[in-house]
Amino acid sequence: MTRSHSESDKTHVLQAPPVRPELSLVVPFYNEAEAVDVFFGKIMSVLENISCSFEIICINDGSTDDTLARLVGQKENILQIKIIDFSRNFGKDAAMTAGLDYASGKCVIPIDSDLQDPPELIIKMLDKWEQGFDVVLAKRTDRSEDSLFKRITAYLFYKICNLFSDIELPENVGDFRLLDRKVVDAIKQCPERKRFMKGLFAFAGFKTASVEYKRPAREVGTSKWNYWKLWNYAIDGLTSFSTFPLKIWTYIGGFITLASFAGGMWILIRTLLYGIDWPGYASLMTIMLFLGGTQMISLGLIGEYVGRIYMESKQRPIYIIKDIIE
Ligand code: UDP
Ligand code: MG
Repeated sequence: MTRSHSESDKTHVLQAPPVRPELSLVVPFYNEAEAVDVFFGKIMSVLENISCSFEIICINDGSTDDTLARLVGQKENILQIKIIDFSRNFGKDAAMTAGLDYASGKCVIPIDSDLQDPPELIIKMLDKWEQGFDVVLAKRTDRSEDSLFKRITAYLFYKICNLFSDIELPENVGDFRLLDRKVVDAIKQCPERKRFMKGLFAFAGFKTASVEYKRPAREVGTSKWNYWKLWNYAIDGLTSFSTFPLKIWTYIGGFITLASFAGGMWILIRTLLYGIDWPGYASLMTIMLFLGGTQMISLGLIGEYVGRIYMESKQRPIYIIKDIIE
């Protein structure tokens, strides 16, 4: 692997250049004790066959099981492992942020520890990187492992996000992708606390290629996601990169005002012509409840944004590190 980078390749006359690995893998672990040994078995069989230097940044995202002990055990044999131990669970996006902060490679690949991201793909990604691409996406060709409900909701999420936001989220692409150093540095410039990583990756842009794969089911352990978490993740995604949900209420409100004005005129004319003979309870109730409902939805949406502004304004750290084992 010889892709050159002017900044990183600068040699100093007196001082030897810092040894920077070509490839950094960023691997988040949250209660993955069963997965650790299998993961390193597979990943090392791939990394042994690539010709570049590498490091493996493992983030222990507040696991309550044996994950940390197993990572330390693996580190005895694999010197390239670096462990970042969080003080508690901060979530996968925070774990990846820490990984990108501490990765020093010329390119970085975030990869799940449950082997749902096939390590063999790393070689194909590196090939594309060598050809000059800055981002190489791993695209799922089929989602047959997911339930029909999950597939439909994922489809709708991407469609809605891409319709309403300025960035284009690539469909069927997770966090598993290769990022050139330039891209990593660009993402590190984004200061927001709420890290919707898929959006930040897309926001960065750069010359992008993709490689395709079939996503396998989890080998061991269980997914950390449930539908409530996914729903909140979707809201995060939409609100992080679009203000359309806020603005749409101007138009809905405008439409309702115009319609009610027309309705009012009609009632006035009718009353003038035929007198008052119109029992209005049912229609009044319906209209009032409808308006009450839409007002609450719009208030709730404003609340979503205000809540995010509040959280951002606190400027709390994205993650807290208990220990770094190098
Ligand atoms: N993960 C994490 N923190 C969390 C949840 C998950 O670091 O709070 C890690 C997890 O250990 C795994 C990856 O993120 O390596 C993907 O998690 P999972 O397999 O549960 O997600 P899915 O593949 O179902 O989207
Ligand atoms: Mg998984």
